[in-house]
Amino acid sequence: MNTDLFPDLFAKFLSPIFVSDWKSELFEDKKLTIKVLRLDAEHKHIGGNKLYKLYYNLLEAKKQNKTKILTFGGAYSNHLRATAFATKELGMESIAIIRGEEHQNLNPVLTFCKEQNMNLHYISRTEYREKNNIDFIEKLKQQFGDFYLVPEGGSNALALKGTSYIPKIAFDLLKNDINYFVLAVGTGGTTAGILNGIENTKKLKSKVLAVSALKGGHFLKDDVEKLLNEFYENNVDKTKNILSNLILETNFHEGGYAKKSERLTNFINDFNQKNDFEIEPIYTGKAFFAVYNLAKEDFFEENSTIILIHTGGIF
Ligand SMILES: *Cc1c(COP(=O)(O)O)cnc(C)c1O
Repeated sequence: MNTDLFPDLFAKFLSPIFVSDWKSELFEDKKLTIKVLRLDAEHKHIGGNKLYKLYYNLLEAKKQNKTKILTFGGAYSNHLRATAFATKELGMESIAIIRGEEHQNLNPVLTFCKEQNMNLHYISRTEYREKNNIDFIEKLKQQFGDFYLVPEGGSNALALKGTSYIPKIAFDLLKNDINYFVLAVGTGGTTAGILNGIENTKKLKSKVLAVSALKGGHFLKDDVEKLLNEFYENNVDKTKNILSNLILETNFHEGGYAKKSERLTNFINDFNQKNDFEIEPIYTGKAFFAVYNLAKEDFFEENSTIILIHTGGIF
């Protein structure tokens, strides 16, 4: 059990993380070793990267004696799901500000959130763009009372602190050199943490291949840089150095966020049939698909070890 990171808040209900193999003739041909870090296996409701992003935020909220967490997300947000569960476990209240209108029938994510007693509040897409605006937050405080704010997707400097543990878990489990960490990107918080965690363990050989789940994700590099600067209080040299290990891959969004192509659907169906764990089309499927295609194109050097981070999303 990862008691290093989750000593008090969650240790009691988390399962151990492990590494799975992903074998295929292609990888044998290209002399590549592909491993999968199974963060998804940590918990059946909130396994994946979101707990790592939330952990230090929840600790900070407790320190500040805040009993209410307010956060933002789309209707299918894994972040809302994790926040709802974690706050309930800790006896805190949670409020979700959801982008878009309310639908008659709640989808499975929001149904789950509601079951955890999350307060679901819908706002228009126009209003949602104000989510980082101080006046807007002030208005929310008048409406809901005092709260601890977690930004959309849970990405802030404290999220970076939590996700920085992920490389250490991988190095401890694999015990050999890792040439590439690969993961799917939404807001960039997990990518920033992994880059930082690699820097902290001084295994500077690892590159981070971040696969954008969004269309036109070139801006994500700036977002990752912003988060690192926030974390290192604008130590720009440090940030630039850490950022030099990032490779942002923007060619596998397959139509954009929560969209999928036929080739992606076929790939995922085939993968899920052949392996004893699953990937999904919004995030993990795109990262795995990218690795497969890049291996075909000889992107990875022979004898590389590549670790895919299974960031969750399967419930
Ligand atoms: C949220 C999420 C991501 C993206 O994480 P970011 O830190 O926002 O980049 C990736 N995979 C899954 C399954 C997620 O739920």
